[in-house]
Amino acid sequence: MNTQELYAMINEASEHLELHDDFQQLLRIPERQLAFSVPYESDEGNMRVVEGFRTLHSSLLGPGKGGIRLHPETNIDETSLLASWMTMKNALMHLPFGGAKGGIAADPKQLSDNERERVIRSYIRKLSPYIGRDQDIPAPDVNIGQQEIGWMLDEYEKHLHDPYNAVFTGKDPVIGGIPGRVEATAAGIVHTIRCRLKEQDRSLNNLKVAIQGAGNVGSFCARILADKGAIITAMSDSSSTVFDENGLNVEKVLKEKTDTGSLGGDHESAAVFEVPCDVLIPAAMGGAIDEETARLIQADLIAEGANGPVTADADRVLEERGIEVLPDILTNAGGVVVSYLEWRMNERKEEWSKADALSQLEHYMRQAFSRTNRTKQDSGVSYRRAAYYTACRRLADVMQARGLIK
Ligand code: NAP
Repeated sequence: MNTQELYAMINEASEHLELHDDFQQLLRIPERQLAFSVPYESDEGNMRVVEGFRTLHSSLLGPGKGGIRLHPETNIDETSLLASWMTMKNALMHLPFGGAKGGIAADPKQLSDNERERVIRSYIRKLSPYIGRDQDIPAPDVNIGQQEIGWMLDEYEKHLHDPYNAVFTGKDPVIGGIPGRVEATAAGIVHTIRCRLKEQDRSLNNLKVAIQGAGNVGSFCARILADKGAIITAMSDSSSTVFDENGLNVEKVLKEKTDTGSLGGDHESAAVFEVPCDVLIPAAMGGAIDEETARLIQADLIAEGANGPVTADADRVLEERGIEVLPDILTNAGGVVVSYLEWRMNERKEEWSKADALSQLEHYMRQAFSRTNRTKQDSGVSYRRAAYYTACRRLADVMQARGLIK
């Protein structure tokens, strides 16, 4: 889904809900888009400069919330689109946050660890006046994990002299991170799949699952699902697909990935989409499933682990073929839910256990699924449309309560 398609979806929701045009106007343009230079020193002592971005799409529901990605192809348009999705996701999940997202246009595979640290610290030096625990709260996204968030927090505190660690989520538990955050997105995806299967009197047991992506989301999906009795028939990374119709040995496959950086499969990366399975989880990058790929898919259900993995054209093909899609703004919201719990835990100076965090996560995912499912049944539309209608209803209620729209 690109920006135009997102706004077409918001327009459709707004018509369905019979909202005043002012509703769309208030969401059409991000509140703030920052694009800035990020200079850093290479290991050879040369100055290099890459671009950095941060968009606050809407603060209607609260401070901005959304990850920061480190990827050579990221840009301001992608950042703003992802920020708009965060507005929708936070509204659907009933979180007290607005939508935001950030990016650094650099290739982590071309940076040494020291260069990665310098580029990330430089990005935060430029961004610090615009983020804060009650203003805009970043988190991890593609190629950003606990270590990078630790550098960000350290750099932010140096410049802002703010000793509160709630400005970032996704931290290492030793500096205020919540236990369970690393697997939260995948755990949320599994809860959503389970909720859908329950509607059909099915369970995860012996469910055949194919997963695109072997990073944070893909690898934890594989682990959690295998643990609950599902059969992981295929996994892919950027260079190959590993396949076994009787089920992969997930721990062995992931060990190979950790040890060598690659899954070492015999099939090309895109082969994962053609594997016969019950559920396909695209958990790599946006736009992975286009119209052509959608015609090859042999799953009954797609659970969007990545943000925007199914294009709007592909969505139409999948609908025609009777393949259901559990949409990203619902399915992969586990990360932001547990980020919210981390922020709340830090603000209240509490300490939570992993069990506390994961049981609250389950509650949020079930509630959001049942809200979406109700809208789906009442309106007779796809899960994606139902999720957008539900999120827009929430945003419209807030705008009406504040007297912003009639
Ligand atoms: P990640 O840890 O960086 O992993 C990304 C994975 O995708 C890597 O295994 C990468 O392969 C693989 N990949 C990249 N291009 C590919 C291709 N063309 N074909 C197959 N695999 C490919 O990222 P992540 O955190 O798991 O995030 C994945 C997606 O989920 C992103 O869209 C992100 O926005 C979304 N998401 C993440 C979170 C979260 O909490 N992490 C929350 C919500 C949504 P290599 O290993 O070979 O590089």
